[in-house]
Amino acid sequence: MDRTIYTEDHEAFRQSAAAFLAKKVTPELEEHLAAKSLPRQFWLDAGAEGFLGLEIPEEFGGSDAQDFRFNAIFAEELSKVNAALASCTGIHADITVPYIVHLGTQAQKERWLPGCASGEILTAIGMTEPGGGSDLAALRTTAVRDGDEWVINGSKTFITNGFSADLVVTAVRTDPSKGARGITLFGIEATDPGFSRGRKLDKVGQEESDTAELFFENIRLGDDRIIGEIGGGFIAMMQKLPQERLGAAVSNVAHAKQILAETIQYCHDRKAFGQSIGSLQHNKFLLAELVTKIEVAEAYVDQAVLAHSEGKLTAIDAAKAKWWSAEVQNDVLDDCVQLHGGYGFMNEYRVARAWRDARVTKIWAGSNEIMKELIGRDLGF
Ligand SMILES: Cc1cc2nc3c(=O)[nH]c(=O)nc-3n(C[C@H](O)[C@H](O)[C@H](O)COP(=O)(O)OP(=O)(O)OC[C@H]3O[C@@H](n4cnc5c(N)ncnc54)[C@H](O)[C@@H]3O)c2cc1C
Repeated sequence: MDRTIYTEDHEAFRQSAAAFLAKKVTPELEEHLAAKSLPRQFWLDAGAEGFLGLEIPEEFGGSDAQDFRFNAIFAEELSKVNAALASCTGIHADITVPYIVHLGTQAQKERWLPGCASGEILTAIGMTEPGGGSDLAALRTTAVRDGDEWVINGSKTFITNGFSADLVVTAVRTDPSKGARGITLFGIEATDPGFSRGRKLDKVGQEESDTAELFFENIRLGDDRIIGEIGGGFIAMMQKLPQERLGAAVSNVAHAKQILAETIQYCHDRKAFGQSIGSLQHNKFLLAELVTKIEVAEAYVDQAVLAHSEGKLTAIDAAKAKWWSAEVQNDVLDDCVQLHGGYGFMNEYRVARAWRDARVTKIWAGSNEIMKELIGRDLGF
């Protein structure tokens, strides 16, 4: 089915993103896998080409596109190359940076945004704690007032870009008596005394993304590091999570669509019983189902992207896009593995890695169960 939400300008942007990735990123992929992280050069190159500043005002070095379709296109092109590229870049440019753009003070914007646009400052978002991620309102990292400073203690885990980040937008409890309204966002820099990181966590997929535990031990910060209002952190996260979930949905579909295209080619090339394996009726019907699943999911996600670029996406529709696309992605990739036979279980095949890389999409950015909880609540239950 033809996609209708993208104009010639968007498609031209897609061409430049694809060219950038083919030239600067694809040749290095195996090195990223071995290093279990993306090198700073990736961020500097992406920044130099303008891909990290789509949400950043021009006065701070960005392009201020004000059209999420450009973010979505970059996410799609990254996902076609590799799922981890998309998740790491999304966490920085589409998820963390917007907190600074929309809630930061002029001084904070001047301090951080030019580096965020150029790739010299890499960001991460610290919400999840070892004690829990789904129940964000119960987080335990604290900031206690001492004179005109805050003293921060606690830890975060599973933080994407956590091992390399220079700046972590961190959700912290500033008032234990106020539940969700006692949570505040702080910009914690990696050079702040008392900040430390654990090892790069050993994951079953997306090894190219660095994922880390972060520790805060008596970090002393002034009010100038508060992002947004004191006590406004939870509401800010609820407002920003739909964009995170939409970006995840875009990546989920694009990732599975690309691997499905490669699988269809494999089904033409691979022979069994004197014919291409795609000609065997079971496989032919299965492939018919998979392309349909992807196109139907893509149509929904496209409409969500369009709604978001017009400022109309609801949190509930973002939740639907997120859980459904994650489910479709995982189902499709599981079948793609099956269609590859034994090669589908070999790490050297893209389909095997894609299958491992996809598993987390049902867990992060709010698990699929939490998405259904939100949708169910909206039905009045
Ligand atoms: C690779 C990776 C990268 C990540 N990156 C980040 C990051 O950059 N920043 C960040 O802050 N977090 C990050 N996360 C954390 C992620 O968002 C959490 O893992 C997720 O929100 C689930 O939280 P949890 O792991 O504590 O599971 P729990 O909250 O302990 O949930 C366990 C299970 O119970 C289910 N469950 C929980 N509550 C309910 C409920 N009310 N109803 C029904 N079922 C429920 C969950 O769906 C899940 O299946 C990342 C995670 C991974 C694996």
